[in-house]
Amino acid sequence: MIKQAQVMVVTPHPDDAEFGVAGTVARWTGEGKDVIYVVCTNGDKGTSDTDVKPNELASIREQEQLAAAKLLGVREVIFLHYPDQALEDTPEFRKEIVRLIRMYRPETVVTADPYRRYIWHRDHRITGQVTLDAIFPYARDSLAYPDLLKQGLQPHKVKEVLLWGSEEPNHHSNITDTFDIKIAALRCHKSQLGDSTSPESEQRLRERHRKMAEGEDYELAEAFHRLEIHW
Ligand SMILES: [Zn+2]
Repeated sequence: MIKQAQVMVVTPHPDDAEFGVAGTVARWTGEGKDVIYVVCTNGDKGTSDTDVKPNELASIREQEQLAAAKLLGVREVIFLHYPDQALEDTPEFRKEIVRLIRMYRPETVVTADPYRRYIWHRDHRITGQVTLDAIFPYARDSLAYPDLLKQGLQPHKVKEVLLWGSEEPNHHSNITDTFDIKIAALRCHKSQLGDSTSPESEQRLRERHRKMAEGEDYELAEAFHRLEIHW
């Protein structure tokens, strides 16, 4: 079944998309674009609280992600439920991303930059790499998955990729008008924030996004490494 969406955000954990692209997502949905999220892991290791059980944490984080997505106007959130800190570059994971790309047929895919060096969460690296591999060549080539073709999932060519967390950003997206919604969406991730909901931390975040807008004629930006794919 085809459920066309213009933008697909592939996020390693619940909350990464809010840090990386929420301001831009809010702008897009405000412009009437259909945005969907694919959340790869269940985030069940994301705590220093030794009292909370992993399965409880996973369900809390799922609810937090749904609340954030709702605020941002995201149409649909798909949870793949891979275990946190255990994502691997497997044929199954790659095929799942291909299946979703062929089903939703996005023009733009947004994910974590896999080429950030040294200290970078392994799940982020793997999510970014597998998503890029899925876009090319696997989503494009009809012979890649004959069974997907039989299910009516035709090859699809993504036109644009935006990578957050990049050491080589080449694209700025104006989030001046949507920064407050980004903050509100981040605050939905209560289990992850601890005391970082203070005015000081909001100010630090604003400063970070102001730096990302340097050289632009607006105040706040999210920065990406952008690829335009000419097929
Ligand atoms: Zn993460």
